[in-house]
Amino acid sequence: MILSIILALRLVLAAPLSAAPPGFFPPEPAATDDSYDDADQGGEDSESESDNATAVDPIFGPSLRYTGDLSDAELARKWRDDLHSLGSVSIGFAEQGRLINAAQLPDDPAWIRQRSDLAWGAQETVESLATSFRAVHTQFPDSVPARLSHIGAKDGGYLRPHKSHQSGRAADIAFFYKKDVVPGGRGRRDRFIDPVRSWALVRALITQTDVQVILMDRGIQDVLRNYALEAGEDRAWLGRIFRNGKASLVQHARKHRDHFHARFFAPRSQELGRRLAPLLAERADQNVVVHRVKRGQTLGAIAHVYATSVSAILKANHLHKTFLSLDQRLQIPLLHKPCNRWPIPPAVVVPARCLPPSESATAAL
Ligand SMILES: [Zn+2]
Repeated sequence: MILSIILALRLVLAAPLSAAPPGFFPPEPAATDDSYDDADQGGEDSESESDNATAVDPIFGPSLRYTGDLSDAELARKWRDDLHSLGSVSIGFAEQGRLINAAQLPDDPAWIRQRSDLAWGAQETVESLATSFRAVHTQFPDSVPARLSHIGAKDGGYLRPHKSHQSGRAADIAFFYKKDVVPGGRGRRDRFIDPVRSWALVRALITQTDVQVILMDRGIQDVLRNYALEAGEDRAWLGRIFRNGKASLVQHARKHRDHFHARFFAPRSQELGRRLAPLLAERADQNVVVHRVKRGQTLGAIAHVYATSVSAILKANHLHKTFLSLDQRLQIPLLHKPCNRWPIPPAVVVPARCLPPSESATAAL
């Protein structure tokens, strides 16, 4: 009882950390329904997604829930001398972040990667995707494989046309279609979706992985929800997943009719990112800041401000052209001055999975 009161108090007191130092961009505001809408009309897949649903422990501070095996001294030593041994590190935010030691989703009969060079993410993300794809493959062994569009680039960061997909925790995934015929065009796809396998995939993500949020067009959500009800799923449980305002696990997002977007908790990678943020500048190869492009700015002007070079910025951001878009986030390699500042997101606390009553009872045993 006392414990539950303390826990409740801690949740009530939870507030985002404003850890961004002067001169750097503050953490993203908590996501709203509108923030999932596409603010950039330029690309079909462009998205605006912010980190939310993370909680800070205001009493005990950023405790080491997921990296307690590493003392500060050991972490600093590995950072200096044995970086690879740390595993994947998720720095910053989904919309303003990067990755160190990314893991790549391998080839597998259960899935197809649209772009192997964009199949890099935090270890937890890659494992979550593999788990859910394999669950569908086990249930429907004769089905075509699941299709992964993008996770992110090997070192994370800006990935056109996405606004997120930067810190290794986001993935774009295709739906399954009836008779495996993918409809052409960009119109409504509600009636072409195969709800059986598509729901199996979403269900596996929700019940077998630590997915944080799924973004999907409302029309598609209705198809899946109606099918799940018909198939006998618990109505109240589905009520927590679909059409429950900001509390829904599945949120509406424009331009998510031909794929859906999943963002995962990557607790160890995220906690490593928080702890390593102050040490980033100790390695020349990690001495990078993020710059948000303002109106009228050119790459040359940005390079001048940071005393770096246009070519270094192009290389760090996988860009081949010098065209920039407003609000685009660029990683800026600092060639001359060390930077030990990076926006630090709130400490992550992975909530209990959203399980149907039958599986909740099993999980409690
Ligand atoms: Zn996406």
